[in-house]
Amino acid sequence: MKNIVLFGPPGAGKGTQSAYLVDKFGFVHLSTGDIFRYNIKNQTELGTLAKSYMDQGQLVPDSVTIDMLKAEWGKYPDAVGFLFDGFPRTEAQALALDEILAEAGQSIAAMIGLEVPEEELLARLLERGKTSGRPDDANPEVIGQRIAVYHRETAPVQGYYEAQGKYMALSGVGSIESITASLSEKIQAL
Ligand code: AMP
Repeated sequence: MKNIVLFGPPGAGKGTQSAYLVDKFGFVHLSTGDIFRYNIKNQTELGTLAKSYMDQGQLVPDSVTIDMLKAEWGKYPDAVGFLFDGFPRTEAQALALDEILAEAGQSIAAMIGLEVPEEELLARLLERGKTSGRPDDANPEVIGQRIAVYHRETAPVQGYYEAQGKYMALSGVGSIESITASLSEKIQAL
């Protein structure tokens, strides 16, 4: 089983690339952002809680996020592999993910980071906000907050995987197809 973490700041293209990689490799795609949005749409208790953080560009608390991820992960005992997108976003989440996987005799094969310059991220998120219907994409202040949170809380997670020799960087600038091709090459070589 290949378990991959797709990493990068908001707007790096994780969601876009995940769709192609799921098609190609048959991964189960676990996007914590998507799961929170599903819960908001369905007006669950978790959705109401998550929304209060998401609308501010803040992270949903670790305990809530980890419990939710663990429950989702447990729904796919026959998966050929998981593609984690938007998780882990803190070191506590990275540790928890290792524990969850280790209990099942599994591990993360690699974290692949999509690298995109900051001006490009801002432009992409504002553009996406015109059509995504996501309130957190439509407001420049919230976008700035998400990028700040990324630098403060999420970027250090890269070091967690680097220390295990599992981090690989990839340019997230270029055509969608060329980035999918580079990602696929890396995943195939694992
Ligand atoms: P995303 O769709 O990955 O851009 O996530 C949208 C929002 O959902 C983030 O700004 C956070 O508020 C929340 N979120 C998604 N994933 C996580 C996570 N792993 N930990 C905490 N909050 C998260």
